[in-house]
Amino acid sequence: MPLPSMKPRYAVFGQPIAHSLSPRIHAMFGAQFGIEVDYRAIETGRDEFARALAAFARDGGVGANVTLPLKADAFALCATRSARAQRCGSVNTLTRDGDAWRGDSTDGVGFLRDLERLGFDARGRRVLLLGAGGAARAVAFTLVDADPRELMIVNRTRERTAELARALRFDGVFGCEPAQVGTLDGRYDLVVNATSAGHAGAAFDLPARLLERDALCYDLSYGHAARSFLAWAREAGAKTASDGLGMLVDQAAESFAIWHGRRPQTRAILDALRDC
Ligand code: NDP
Repeated sequence: MPLPSMKPRYAVFGQPIAHSLSPRIHAMFGAQFGIEVDYRAIETGRDEFARALAAFARDGGVGANVTLPLKADAFALCATRSARAQRCGSVNTLTRDGDAWRGDSTDGVGFLRDLERLGFDARGRRVLLLGAGGAARAVAFTLVDADPRELMIVNRTRERTAELARALRFDGVFGCEPAQVGTLDGRYDLVVNATSAGHAGAAFDLPARLLERDALCYDLSYGHAARSFLAWAREAGAKTASDGLGMLVDQAAESFAIWHGRRPQTRAILDALRDC
């Protein structure tokens, strides 16, 4: 337990983490309420994560976000978890609770708020979801709650697709491997890239005929990692092509509300980040 005199500390853990905008976003949230937030980025791989998190708690750490590749480890390290973290099997927000950590997942809420901002309602629509990792799981549960006509999950590792499809318990869920995408029938209203392939600079390609005329294409990543998917989406004729910056800001706002009991405004912060 941190000593009562210690200043509460917050951090984001991940690897790589130097690019993270989270420290800036939380500082801007704090400024809205006149709170000086001590929120840092801590570079940590999977092997050192448990030790680094314990050291953080000893030094006054009371709240943490985790990103690639630590979400499954964070899930396992938590003594208790929120219902939504339990449901999607992923944790991105840790809150100190006595001598232990409580886990939550704010990715789904962040994604939903950004879809709303973009004016997209998934009810009755056909959705293609690329990826079945931690973030894809949070997004998939959010999407099925909106009652789409179909959710097609495309992922490299077949077992992960099958496990997610089972967990969703939704009649309109299907799965396939990337090599089968070319054989899919019909057009999709929403294509979500929830793979981390863009971080390694992988080129993105799908048949353009898969897009409905007013389709929204959404990449969870942002910056250079989203470039190839967004270029494909525009070339393929998507009505809207969006990166995941809005989701990032809104999932951070949800974490901030969990820790500080106050919900920041996100629109101005998103605009400020886009202007940089
Ligand atoms: P995970 O490591 O949990 O999952 C990675 C996913 O990407 C898996 O489905 C994996 O497939 C797939 N993948 C990785 N490399 C390739 C490749 N070369 N080709 C095809 N598929 C590949 O990561 P997360 O789910 O945590 O993150 C996924 C993405 O979402 C990242 O880009 C991350 O930055 C972004 N993100 C954005 C957020 C935001 O707020 N905007 C929040 C959370 C994540 P397989 O199962 O076969 O290994």
